[in-house]
Amino acid sequence: MANTKDFQVAIVGGGMIGLVCAAVLTQAGIQVDLFESASKFGEVGAGIGLGPNAVRALDAMGLLKAVLAKSDQEISDMRAFRFMSCSPGHEHILDYPYLPEDNGLGIHRADFLDALIPFVDPNTTHFNKRCTNVASSSNAGTPHSILHFTDGTTFATDLVLGADGIRSTIRSVVLGIPGPEVQRLSFANTVAYRALIPLDDVKRAGVKTDLSARPICWTSLHKHIITFPIHNMNTINVVVFSSNPSIPMGSVQVPSHQWVILASNQEILDAYKDCGPDVTTLLSLMESPRKWSIHTVDPPLDTFVRENIALVGDAAHAMCPHLGAGAGQGIEDSFVLTRLLSHPHTKLSNLRDVLQAYNEVRLERANMVVRGSIRAGKIYECGLPSQQMHEALVNLWEPVWHHDLQEDVSSAVRLLKEKGVFVMNPL
Ligand SMILES: Cc1cc2nc3c(=O)[nH]c(=O)nc-3n(C[C@H](O)[C@H](O)[C@H](O)COP(=O)(O)OP(=O)(O)OC[C@H]3O[C@@H](n4cnc5c(N)ncnc54)[C@H](O)[C@@H]3O)c2cc1C
Repeated sequence: MANTKDFQVAIVGGGMIGLVCAAVLTQAGIQVDLFESASKFGEVGAGIGLGPNAVRALDAMGLLKAVLAKSDQEISDMRAFRFMSCSPGHEHILDYPYLPEDNGLGIHRADFLDALIPFVDPNTTHFNKRCTNVASSSNAGTPHSILHFTDGTTFATDLVLGADGIRSTIRSVVLGIPGPEVQRLSFANTVAYRALIPLDDVKRAGVKTDLSARPICWTSLHKHIITFPIHNMNTINVVVFSSNPSIPMGSVQVPSHQWVILASNQEILDAYKDCGPDVTTLLSLMESPRKWSIHTVDPPLDTFVRENIALVGDAAHAMCPHLGAGAGQGIEDSFVLTRLLSHPHTKLSNLRDVLQAYNEVRLERANMVVRGSIRAGKIYECGLPSQQMHEALVNLWEPVWHHDLQEDVSSAVRLLKEKGVFVMNPL
């Protein structure tokens, strides 16, 4: 298909968010080259929960149907969390209130990628391409970026989207600190053990709580567990958190090769001793779990944009998983940015202004969710009596779930008009 624009885009990173951006821009007829360091698209073997805001954005971008088809569901119908205590008795704390239209989605990460792959052009998708730096260059007076890769090759482009995840190279470029060091990440002094357990196994082992009805947050002092169903309710995604609040955020550095390590089942049971029967039984089913050291961009970035480079997803705002909103915020980035890039008035000569408008509407909101995610973890793990926790939990997701993204796009366009960047034809 001929490029509908006078500029071309290079996306670094083919995870969930790089693929969303590539899919939408390709559908809009914009020339996109996608560079992924791995030899193929791939994700960790775990589920992901997408909130109603993310589901609405996927729908508006024309991707929801394909995603649902891969999730074995016709509609997105994951309800809001139920909060329960890990302690014996498993006291019910709160069913988080939701509106009928607040439909989330639980999906296996690999299924999400599989749904999007058909939307991107295999001829402009490049694997085994690890970007090491982005240099500025000028061609016939027009600024370009040159991507450099570990294999010694380069690629010239008009616009770079850094979708290279939590350990982003492009973040360092945007911060103006090129080099191998990954910038602005802090260990949150929390580890997460992840597993997928067939619902039949959970029932057979004697877990009485219905884990397929709604997502559950099991709370306790300095630890909590998230469970939600995927695969049309047949598999339970389990994420078990354990924190050490005596160590301030960012005070301990985890060597990069130890970010994800194999753990023993006993280690989890030790961290969760004295819990009630359903929690103990569920944890005993986690065979050879992997342990993740949770990191967050800290402090949050002052900008997601530099010249003709924009960050999206975890590259911009990797956050603690406690609002289940990291990918959701990346999907919001993708919505706003792809809407602006495909706007009829966007062209090569005003790309930098358009990226600044993206930054203007996305930075504050995404950083609000970064901070909110840290706060949410503290609430789940505060160990307060259920009534006090109940009060802290009500409205926790409100600012994340109910936000008018189309209004963000409109306000970015208004900004561009006010600055005289978008000159609209008089009617
Ligand atoms: C335990 C846990 C649970 C979570 N649960 C949820 C949840 O329920 N809901 C939610 O919304 N979010 C959740 N998140 C957050 C979510 O996983 C991330 O926000 C999301 O995966 C980010 O996607 P991304 O595409 O930005 O980055 P990634 O998925 O990390 O993709 C980055 C891609 O870039 C590639 N890459 C990296 N460097 C380079 C390079 N230099 N050159 C080329 N390619 C490169 C990588 O190979 C990868 O394919 C959770 C996170 C964790 C740790």
